[in-house]
Amino acid sequence: MANLSWLDSVLPRVCVECELHTYTDLDLCPHCTAALPWNHFACTKCALPLPAQGHECIRCVKDLPPFTAAFAPLIYQPPVSNWVHAMKFSGHPVYTNILATLTTRYLQERIFDCRPDVLIPVPLSRRRLIRRGHNQALLLAHPLARTLCIPLTAGLVVRNRHTMPQQGLTRTVRLRNLRDVFEVTEAPPAHVAIVDDVMTTTATTTEIARTLLQAGAGRVDVWVAARATLSR
Ligand SMILES: [Zn+2]
Ligand SMILES: [Zn+2]
Repeated sequence: MANLSWLDSVLPRVCVECELHTYTDLDLCPHCTAALPWNHFACTKCALPLPAQGHECIRCVKDLPPFTAAFAPLIYQPPVSNWVHAMKFSGHPVYTNILATLTTRYLQERIFDCRPDVLIPVPLSRRRLIRRGHNQALLLAHPLARTLCIPLTAGLVVRNRHTMPQQGLTRTVRLRNLRDVFEVTEAPPAHVAIVDDVMTTTATTTEIARTLLQAGAGRVDVWVAARATLSR
């Protein structure tokens, strides 16, 4: 193993996008890293991509979400959406590592004064976990917890019933479907960060945050690798 890790450090990696050799600690070359759909200007509450910095999106102004801040380094567009898909459905280790590393670097520059006490991956239902074999939110949360030295508690929030896939539904319908789906198993610490692969309508994170605050948490943040542009 020692020889393998030594070889790993001196041999070039192959960029997953352009397939050229790269001498970085990531399977993504600096050029392709720079060309990613970075979420440069995001809503300060829900991380929705915006045309300029320093604003909240219209929906957050009208209807403040229960979480305090959301962090999403990337916009959910190709190639990021393809990587998220590969992590979600096959637990692809290379794409998981790229997404986790880019998310960690982004957070390291932004959480000086808002480090959470614990990370909570968005739970899957038991049925979906058995069918898929892994929880993509947990795959992402593990390396974040390890690198940022923040405890990870996968069992603090559980999903107490199965819900049908929510794709294509409006946020209002999603929220209605998710009512009382999540349960907090013990008193949460003061500051919690919910971790997920991608945030689309905020319905899931809104419902988990609401449940955690009801259970006694003082602040809930949301950490995701990618944020979808459309938010209904
Ligand atoms: Zn490249
Ligand atoms: Zn917003």
